[in-house]
Amino acid sequence: MEEWVAQLQNSVNTLDRLKAVINVTPEEEKAVSQLETKWGTTPYFASLMDPDDPACPIRRQVIPSFKEKENRYGMPNYLIWKENRDTEEIRPDSIARQYHDRIAFTVTDICANYCRHCFRKELVVDRDLKLRFDFEEGLQWIKEHKEIRDILITGGDPFILSDDKIEYLITKLREIPHVEMIRFGTRTPIVLPHRITDGLKKILSVYHRVPLWINTQCNHPKEITEKTARAVYDLLACGVNVGNQAVLLKGINDDVETFRELHQKLLAVRIRPYYVFYCEPAPGIDHFRTPVEKGAELIRDALRGHTTGLAQPMYVIATNIGKIPLMPDYYIVEKTAKEYKLKNYQGLCTSIPNIPE
Ligand SMILES: *Cc1c(COP(=O)(O)O)cnc(C)c1O
Ligand code: SF4
Repeated sequence: MEEWVAQLQNSVNTLDRLKAVINVTPEEEKAVSQLETKWGTTPYFASLMDPDDPACPIRRQVIPSFKEKENRYGMPNYLIWKENRDTEEIRPDSIARQYHDRIAFTVTDICANYCRHCFRKELVVDRDLKLRFDFEEGLQWIKEHKEIRDILITGGDPFILSDDKIEYLITKLREIPHVEMIRFGTRTPIVLPHRITDGLKKILSVYHRVPLWINTQCNHPKEITEKTARAVYDLLACGVNVGNQAVLLKGINDDVETFRELHQKLLAVRIRPYYVFYCEPAPGIDHFRTPVEKGAELIRDALRGHTTGLAQPMYVIATNIGKIPLMPDYYIVEKTAKEYKLKNYQGLCTSIPNIPE
């Protein structure tokens, strides 16, 4: 059996298995035993948990909590709203649309790690929302919509699918003339780096007009290991770009030091920061959410000028009408007929001439 399959079969998803890895607190034990929710992670990711610290950023992303029952700010039927599932355009369940030229193609509701902060919680974690994941239906819809040039394959985690299914999806999508790029959103480089097997590499490394891109999700520097570094290197060697989509999580990565270290470490393992998402108002994840401005402040205080521009993600709020960027905006102090007065990250000012149109 391949190691990645063994990792999934030995998922740390029972109290006993969790107790074998960490010192479970009474609170965690109660939540794990009483909450009816899908949870669990790979033995690999579990091994990164601090056995003695319940505030460990990995523990908090993995272990259910009674806080998930509090729901003051979460929107009911969040995914229906967010993915425009009750609008007039008829689409298969697997296709979520917010933009003219690109769609999200949901192919599974299985994950290697059931993130407690997941915005698709209703589908993936709580499972109140049932969708049909029919490849053919989705492929047919894409074929019929010539304006769609960019396919984001998502889930769940699409890299949980077998090599054969991944190859099938890529091959079929590449046969559609108007498809110009294929992206996968997968957390496997972080939670299951063993997934990047020789077999998968063979499938991904085929040269084709239509490139493959991957975005993973890494939220804390502790999640980055030598295994992840190797998996990312292997993907890049296949011609697949690897970006990161972090989620801003209260008490996990919302302080300047952690936020900076996360983005620096991502680059150190060749992952290009792409987005930082505001933690979405899905039900049951209030305890992970910060004020909206927080992400922009962190980019200003932790990244801009403090570290290379390559490490700068875009901070966005994901909504039903697309992602709304919310970036720090304080650099132009004054504009006169003669000049722009500019301020840098240290508060120093300079000016450059204003050229009339
Ligand atoms: C996020 C998302 C996309 C892709 O957005 P990019 O900004 O291009 O990365 C496309 N469709 C849906 C429904 C999405 O949620
Ligand atoms: S990997 Fe993605 S889809 Fe799966 S639980 Fe985590 S955030 Fe949700």
